[in-house]
Order: sequence, then C-alpha cells, then structure tokens
Amino acid sequence: MLEKVSLIREKIARAAALSRRSADDIILVAVSKTVGEVEVRQAASMGISDFGENRTRELARKQQLFPTLRWHMIGRLQTNKVKDVLGRFVLIHSLDRWNLAQEIEQRARVTHLTVDALLQVNISGEQQKAGLPPADVACFLDSAGELSALRIKGLMTIAPEASDPEKVRPVFRELYQLQQRLLGRNMANVDLKYLSMGMSQDFEVAIEEGANIVRIGSAIFN
Ligand SMILES: *Cc1c(COP(=O)(O)O)cnc(C)c1O
Repeated sequence: MLEKVSLIREKIARAAALSRRSADDIILVAVSKTVGEVEVRQAASMGISDFGENRTRELARKQQLFPTLRWHMIGRLQTNKVKDVLGRFVLIHSLDRWNLAQEIEQRARVTHLTVDALLQVNISGEQQKAGLPPADVACFLDSAGELSALRIKGLMTIAPEASDPEKVRPVFRELYQLQQRLLGRNMANVDLKYLSMGMSQDFEVAIEEGANIVRIGSAIFN
C-alpha cells in the first residue's frame, strides 16, 4: 500500500503543478468502503487523514473505531438515516435534493451542530446517477440562504466510467465552469471553495481541471 500511496501522491503533485497549485491544495479522501479496519489503520499510518464511506452504518462504525480521522459521506444519504450519522462526518459530498437539505438542517439545529456539504451535480446526465441537473444548481443555492446549520461548501460530481480518462475531461471542466459562474453570485450561507471530483481512474485529469478534493478507493486498497 505504501508504494501505491506514494505514487498517487506524486501524481497528485504533478497534476496540481499543471494547474498552478501545490499538492497541499488537494485533499486526498481515501475511499475505504470496500475494506476493513486493518486497511484503514494502515492508510492512516501513511499520513492519510481523510476517509470516505458511502453507507451510513459503515461510516458510523468506522468513525467510532477511528474518531480522530476525518470521515466523509460520499454516497446517497437517505433522509431517515441522517440522524444516525450527524456529527460523525466532516463533509457530506452527496447532497442531492432539497428535502435532504431540510432534514439535515432540522436535525443539526436541534443538536446545535453545523454541517458542511457539497452539492452533487449530475453533469453527464446519466439517468442512474444521483445529483442535481446543472441548470437547477443556482436555484438550489439561492434557497440555501434559508438554512443556518447547513453550509454549502462546494460542488461534487461523479464522471461516467471511461477506459480513457481524457474522455471525461469535459465533465470535470463543466463542473469547474459552473463553480466559476456561481462564484459571481452573492449567496448567503454558500462558499463554493471545494470541487470534489476524480476517482482512481481519472483523478489526475480532474485535478488538472480544478478538483481540490479527490476520492480514491481501488488505487489505494486493491
Ligand atoms: C467508490 C467511490 C469512489 C472511489 O472509487 P474508486 O474507483 O475505487 O477510486 C469515489 N467516489 C464515490 C462517490 C464512490 O462511490
């Protein structure tokens, strides 16, 4: 695992340099959804501090085992599961509908928490993918001013699977351009500083196109 992580770090630094940033500007989220605590401990010993899970039960379990690590919720979050994980993650990447925002807001207010989230955008338009259509994002963000406990910190997307990462470069570029357009709006409670995009197959291209959070599972753990 050490060699894999070293290589990934080199690639992150190279891609960051190509987009005039440094490796320190990029957050590596190790997606541990397919592995157990041994692998998490091993990755943590290599200095990885951020981990991603896509199921609430598993996130809660691992967060309890490793409370000092930073846990990210990257999968679809059912409204009735919000209460099980609130306060256990540093960032939810998969905010994809208004009633989920309302549920998080209500739960967070009652428990005096603030919750940071990224809005998941379905850039590619694939039917089976979650996420708001790009055209709905501005309206959603305008409404986010009503929320006080839930803060929108950026955008997230999942690119289609592709044998050649160059094929999905336009998807990443479009999310970046959407972020740039939205930065010009003055929106209460919204600070679009994060772009979470790029996985094992395509993280270098994603960083070149502006990602500052990458979610990498198989390239680390397989
Ligand atoms: C599983 C998953 C990843 C990691 O995918 P790999 O191809 O294993 O790197 C990233 N993001 C999301 C939302 C995932 O579900």
